[in-house]
Amino acid sequence: MRLKSFLFGSILLLLASCQTLTPTLPAPSPSPTQPLPTTSPVDPFAEKRHQMVETQIKARGVTDEKVLAAMEKVPRHLFVPQQYIDEAYADHPLPIGYGQTISQPYIVAYMTELLNLKPGDKVLEIGTGSGYQAAILAEITDKVYTVEIIPELARSAEERLKRLGYENVKVLNADGYYGWEEYAPYDAIIVTCAPDHIPQPLVQQLKDGGRMVIPVGPPGGYQTLTLVEKVGGEVKTYSMLWVLFVPMLGEH
Ligand code: SAH
Repeated sequence: MRLKSFLFGSILLLLASCQTLTPTLPAPSPSPTQPLPTTSPVDPFAEKRHQMVETQIKARGVTDEKVLAAMEKVPRHLFVPQQYIDEAYADHPLPIGYGQTISQPYIVAYMTELLNLKPGDKVLEIGTGSGYQAAILAEITDKVYTVEIIPELARSAEERLKRLGYENVKVLNADGYYGWEEYAPYDAIIVTCAPDHIPQPLVQQLKDGGRMVIPVGPPGGYQTLTLVEKVGGEVKTYSMLWVLFVPMLGEH
């Protein structure tokens, strides 16, 4: 098992340092003879996103072309609070309010790769947060279901996903420990908050031959990112790496 530390302490460092970061937005000013474009045809963050994919994701061994293309395409800077926009493509998680975080880009890519998704697969996410992970999934398949326990986050993620054209993502405000029975079974399940055990309802809602990726561990400590496979009714689990996610909320 590889040991990785994704210290949330870095957020504190980030908070302390974000004032000093170089702003990225302004492009060269147009010459006085040129009319100002009303909308920018160029995404000013495209280069940063490309660098993120090259240096944080490909360089660490993610090879699934569908995942790389999704990470290259989804505008992560539109999923983070305005004050962190210049940090959107940095190599760490970021706060999204309500004590929650958007995961580090590499972790999003790595977990998505583990799901081994194919177009048309039905995928369930537990822990919508900003909606970023759901958007990544929606670039790969058109059947994405995501559950968020905090009503405000569920609402804002749903609005954001719609606004950005991710009409194929369905958002539910509920306790994701119990999954989303209505659309089960799922080809894949991804959990982005950490319970201290694997929720049985999620195992039940996984299709035979399906895969689940879930951080499992006690609150306040590191968790084991676990791959769960259901084969012929038998459940197999594999420990992948150490991670640090926010705990799964709710009484279970
Ligand atoms: N995937 C998100 C980040 C996840 S942060 C993104 O891409 O932005 C973890 C999220 O899990 C938080 O939004 C938190 O509110 C949510 N959460 C915690 N416990 C939950 C539960 N029992 N059911 C559903 N969501 C939960």
